[in-house]
Amino acid sequence: MTTRTATCRCGALTIKCTGEPVRVSVCHCLACQQRTGAPLAAQDRWRGADVELRGDAKQWTRRADSGHAATYSFCPTCGSTVAFVIEGWEGVTAVTMGAFADPKFPAPKFSVYEHRKHDWIEVTGDDVKHSSTTSAQRMPGLNIDVDPKDN
Ligand SMILES: [Zn+2]
Ligand SMILES: [Zn+2]
Repeated sequence: MTTRTATCRCGALTIKCTGEPVRVSVCHCLACQQRTGAPLAAQDRWRGADVELRGDAKQWTRRADSGHAATYSFCPTCGSTVAFVIEGWEGVTAVTMGAFADPKFPAPKFSVYEHRKHDWIEVTGDDVKHSSTTSAQRMPGLNIDVDPKDN
């Protein structure tokens, strides 16, 4: 079984992920842009049981447009956000893709909040689902395999 380890920049926080992510996406929303400091965010979602966080993470909770709380785990020393969980996505942990520092990480299949996308960014791939609806119009999906929804 494949294992991958995500780490914060200073290495104090690590997340070991076993198997394959259940969903890989990029988000262009303004909150994600501010969180990452980049014009888009890339994340992969895992079953909670497949994710093992080590180290002392600090947490911050933000209420998303959908009204659901999103709780972010980040390193108190270097500030990298390595994971987050969203209310309504029971048993699912999102891990920030960049924390794997792996250019071969599986490509995203979902590109969401495209109405906030910078014009010069293009998410390529024939099987990528593009979405511009705001999260207020989308219900968080419990059935992530059949009807994937967004954060
Ligand atoms: Zn750190
Ligand atoms: Zn976002």
